[in-house]
Amino acid sequence: MTRSATLGYPRIGPRRELKKALETYWSDGDTQALQETAAAMRAAAWATQKSHGIDYIPSNDFSLYDQVLDMCCLLGAIPERFGRVDGDVDLATYFAMARGAQDGKRDVAAMEMTKWFDTNYHYIVPELSPQTSFRIASRKPFDEFAEAKSLGYATRPVLLGPVSFLMLGKATQDGFAPSELLPALLPVYLEVLKGLAAQGAECVQLDEPCLTLELSDRERAIYRETFERIAREVPELSIHLTAYFDELPVDNRDMAFALPVAAIHLDAVRGAETIESAIDAFPSDKTLSLGLIDGRNIWRADLEAAHKLAQHALARMGDDRLILSTSCSLLHVPYSLELESGLDDELKSWLAFAQEKLGEIEALTRAMNEGRAAVADVFEASAKAQRTRFASERTHNPKVRERMAAITPDMAHRKSAFAMRRRTQLAHFALPKLPTTTIGSFPQTKEVRQARAKFRKGEMTGEAYEEFLKAETERGIRVQEKLGLDVLVHGEFERTDMVEYFGEMLDGFAFTKFGWVQSYGSRCVKPPIIFGDVSRPHPMTVEWSAYAQSLTEKPVKGMLTGPVTILQWSFVRNDQPRSETCRQIALAIRDEVNDLEAAGIGMIQIDEPALREGLPLRRSRWNEYLDWASECFRLSASGVKDETQIHTHMCYSEFNDIIEAIASLDADVISIETSRSRMELLDAFVNYEYPNEIGPGVYDIHSPRVPKTEEMADLLRLATSRLPAEHIWVNPDCGLKTRGWPETEAALGTMVEAARSLRAELGVAAE
Ligand code: GLN
Ligand code: ZN
Repeated sequence: MTRSATLGYPRIGPRRELKKALETYWSDGDTQALQETAAAMRAAAWATQKSHGIDYIPSNDFSLYDQVLDMCCLLGAIPERFGRVDGDVDLATYFAMARGAQDGKRDVAAMEMTKWFDTNYHYIVPELSPQTSFRIASRKPFDEFAEAKSLGYATRPVLLGPVSFLMLGKATQDGFAPSELLPALLPVYLEVLKGLAAQGAECVQLDEPCLTLELSDRERAIYRETFERIAREVPELSIHLTAYFDELPVDNRDMAFALPVAAIHLDAVRGAETIESAIDAFPSDKTLSLGLIDGRNIWRADLEAAHKLAQHALARMGDDRLILSTSCSLLHVPYSLELESGLDDELKSWLAFAQEKLGEIEALTRAMNEGRAAVADVFEASAKAQRTRFASERTHNPKVRERMAAITPDMAHRKSAFAMRRRTQLAHFALPKLPTTTIGSFPQTKEVRQARAKFRKGEMTGEAYEEFLKAETERGIRVQEKLGLDVLVHGEFERTDMVEYFGEMLDGFAFTKFGWVQSYGSRCVKPPIIFGDVSRPHPMTVEWSAYAQSLTEKPVKGMLTGPVTILQWSFVRNDQPRSETCRQIALAIRDEVNDLEAAGIGMIQIDEPALREGLPLRRSRWNEYLDWASECFRLSASGVKDETQIHTHMCYSEFNDIIEAIASLDADVISIETSRSRMELLDAFVNYEYPNEIGPGVYDIHSPRVPKTEEMADLLRLATSRLPAEHIWVNPDCGLKTRGWPETEAALGTMVEAARSLRAELGVAAE
């Protein structure tokens, strides 16, 4: 018998029920309502998986906030500032760790959050120091296993493995290596495993995604030591070790294959290139879990190809040693297509969300056990989806293909080098030194959101809505003029989301109604689906920018989202390289840039906040990515005259290791987030002698707090002492859409004042 498995299931609820329950709990503290919703989400997930005949159904894949935070609680790794916890961690402490707390009882900062590998999911980072001690401080995996059992499901509990747990944590003390905690940590893991075995669990899924990273010999030795100890001390339990998000590098593979575990899971989607050789090298004493169904994307699988691979595996492994599975947890895809009444039938036939993916696993497993004929219809639908998707003009638009073929290298380069463009631009704009500007968006007030909701519900006419947006834009322009900003923006009142806004106007994109994916805690995103060749049927932003420019003598920056960010925050077609899709988007943005220029917009900002997120997990693949990513940016930006000034914006904190790529974007001006790190981020630019102009953010927009003039002036002093003052712009860290108007006006007024006082100080006052 070939068996089936899933590594995890979405948990936020098909209609984000858990999100709503969490938010209610955070405001009214009603624990019971929250726990009831959570239990309902779990029960529904188990039932769906059972109905698809899944043999290994996970438990403890659920979380009220995050699975790594759950592990911290299970293992008792609770940072001291959250107070002494006797017994199990209570909900208030749990959420204080996740989100910080400020009430009568405590005033504590949240634990840090960071990206879960190369997904858009964010996990809570364990804080580890020599003082960290471990003990079982949560009943969650035991309770959920028992809960499933009482509902009639024999589940496979999921735990983040001990080595990845330590590797994903951060040392809170200099010079401390979290791996030093292994001897203290392992006994607690063993106790957890023994406890699960005592409850009747036959196997446990230990997730070790770090196995796909480049590891040192020492780290591999740690893996060996850990799993040998587990095998020795909990022989009654089958350990199913999983690695996902990539193939195993050869050294790790050799090590992992020799570990004393019952089963090993490999990602056959991300690791497609080497999966056959991995199967051939697979040890004869273990079960292979083959991750055939993509847990990171929403396309209907090519069952024919998957079946072939499964058969190849079966031929080698023999009966009873093969599990067919999702490539990783299904956490990263939406629930079900059933809710998507807005998508056309053809497009829907190309897609598979979590529930449909269960159907795929089921069909594959049945094909193995009962023969293809038993599931002929499902295989036929899959084959048809591949065929029609490939043959469709929606995915292969001849016009786009022609344009792609006609791209020449010079299209990705400005006409003149920066130094020369700069001279033209200085004369053309005649700005004061240390020019002041903002990053694009202005407050999306309740009024703005209400007007949009009314318009969408049909309670406001298109004309009335447009009038409303125009009035907001004009008000924004007047405020900026009054404050004395040098370069203005139109305010982005017409936009909700910086990717959605463009995707909705581009061909090749589709939008779901309920395609929510957890980003962190209760936060979800609804990524667009890039299903076909991308093109721009008509200008997208020109009217708004031209309107704003018509209201003022000052330059108004055009505002666009860059091709890499649009790609990165979408579900991307899997039938061509990502670089190709990105190039298509770049051509569409290039058209927009050129049209803005033709409409008299002299400065155009192309935001790329997600450039860094696209970095592959392994460093050895970084350059290839950075090459095409920066080429795509330049392709979108380089169709303009020398005097047109291209800006870009990025809001994150690490530039050191990608500074060369940032410089290769060749944007005339880049604005970055720097205020929270007190300009430390500038180091990369200083050391590299970054040649172009730069606007280091002088105040944090995440907080309503209005800094004093002196604070901003201090930061500017720091920046101008480290980089040529004539290259420095003055701006906040990021867009202001989450802020209110009063603090925005106050902060920007202060910023203008700070710039003026620095100009005076530096003797570059040229206003
Ligand atoms: N122009 C966008 C804004 O101001 C940039 C957003 C971002 O960097 N994420 O909102
Ligand atoms: Zn930003």
